[in-house]
Amino acid sequence: MIIAIDVGGTKIAAALLDGTEIIERREIPSVIHQDFTLLPETVISLVKDWREQASAVAVACTGQVTPTEVKFLSISTEAILPLKALLSDALSLPVSIINDAAAAAWAEYAIGGHTDVDTLVYITVSTGIGGGMIQNGNLVTSNDGFSAHLGHVSVQQPHQHTQYCVCGRQNCVEAIASGTAIARQASEILGTDVSCKEVFNDHLDNPLIKKLLDRCADSVIDLIANIKAITGTESIVIGGSVGLAAPFQALIAQKVVNLPNIYSVKISQPVMKANADLIGAALYLRELNL
Ligand SMILES: [Zn+2]
Repeated sequence: MIIAIDVGGTKIAAALLDGTEIIERREIPSVIHQDFTLLPETVISLVKDWREQASAVAVACTGQVTPTEVKFLSISTEAILPLKALLSDALSLPVSIINDAAAAAWAEYAIGGHTDVDTLVYITVSTGIGGGMIQNGNLVTSNDGFSAHLGHVSVQQPHQHTQYCVCGRQNCVEAIASGTAIARQASEILGTDVSCKEVFNDHLDNPLIKKLLDRCADSVIDLIANIKAITGTESIVIGGSVGLAAPFQALIAQKVVNLPNIYSVKISQPVMKANADLIGAALYLRELNL
């Protein structure tokens, strides 16, 4: 059996898996924004009683995930943890770590029913924007853990709506169309603080909010076209709380057909739901033959 762990910004989930079947699952609030140095001991105490039953540990983690470390650059440039060594020493088991969106992408590719493709891109449009790319049957990764942070692909914006991204560039799609960015821009328009959820629930009739969401959808369409040019993928899966919001989905569906023919791509929703990161991490561990 495999111990799978999913470290997110708000929660940490763990499961004992037999293949893709969840035998037992646990969930606790995340500690990374409170004090990221608590992460290793928190995770170890969450799963250590499963150690005897497991042959390996598969971790999906938010942030920049290298083959051995995780970096939380949104927290601090010093926020680097050698998570693989810390967990394998404490649990005496082989450990693999991948980015959480990459894990979700792998789950979608491996068991999401996309049997006719060997290249697939998964985009999650949520609090932030992340992604995972499978090219010719392989998950695209990089030693610095920056691939595939699709939220930091820069897209077109009208000059008066230039957005500055935390990464240091302008008009990254995450700075325009993520839940955080939508809430920030909508709060400016409405003159009062609103969450992204409130924008979708209460303000869709406001013409200025309509224009904002239209611009956000255009930026995601630009991202889709850029991804198409880089990967040639025939299939893009869009998930996340914003990506799956019905009004946003409708805008994407309406606009994607207007791209020039060479950019044509099938857009679908993820088949894998709540446990995609856990199952994807466990499935990807198999590929590594640890
Ligand atoms: Zn950026």
